[in-house]
Amino acid sequence: MTTREQQLQYLEAMGIQAWTARHAEAAAVEGSVEPDPEPAVVVAPETPAPAAPVTSVLDTTDVSGLDWEMLEARVSECRQCDLHTSRTRTVFGVGNRNADWLVIGEAPGHDEDQQGEPFVGRAGQLLNAMLQAVGLQRGQVYIANILKCRPPNNRDPKTEEVLCCEPYLLRQIELIQPGLILAVGRIAAQNLLQTQTPIGKLRGEVHTFRDTGIPLIATYHPAYLLRSPAEKRKAWQDLQLAVRTLRERRQ
Ligand code: SF4
Repeated sequence: MTTREQQLQYLEAMGIQAWTARHAEAAAVEGSVEPDPEPAVVVAPETPAPAAPVTSVLDTTDVSGLDWEMLEARVSECRQCDLHTSRTRTVFGVGNRNADWLVIGEAPGHDEDQQGEPFVGRAGQLLNAMLQAVGLQRGQVYIANILKCRPPNNRDPKTEEVLCCEPYLLRQIELIQPGLILAVGRIAAQNLLQTQTPIGKLRGEVHTFRDTGIPLIATYHPAYLLRSPAEKRKAWQDLQLAVRTLRERRQ
């Protein structure tokens, strides 16, 4: 399958109409992989400015100064909250540790808990398709969750669990220094932005992640999009906004 055919397949998975796909086809013919009139290929041309240290609301876990290996080891043996009793394994995160894009979801589900990797299964496949629709392979981004352990029966994370686990994610953000954070789903967006505003109102605009200066864009969770395919159009718009935001940040 050619690159063009692959991209059209990804756009179809995103629920993008044929007229939009033809834009992508035209762009692909010209050597671009972007499906939108706006340039959509994101390459990290420069070293990003160092992100400011992020302070946890409840810093129960001192992970400052830990490198990737030490941090991952710390997470793997963590017992800071009750979720350690029901997990199969921790789900630390995966991907490019120098990525421009940091994708943050909610928490491991059943498949993630079994495999130790975020966003696997059907939702993960759709996330991959969403990324590929804007010219990104899964391995080019870093993917993590708010929680490193699965809540039983996939219930929403409790506030105390989020606060216990937050230092790990904040240290990951410090280490990656991403150019952009894509918060997927209500739980991720609300916790990262420290708000109760519905996801439908958080998406579609550029936020800033706390005091770091890192732009944050919220969008729907792929699992929700699988249940509500009519919303894929909005997720596509969010991805295009993310592409434009990152490009403008790099100029
Ligand atoms: S969810 Fe986070 S804080 Fe709770 S046990 Fe797992 S790694 Fe530790």
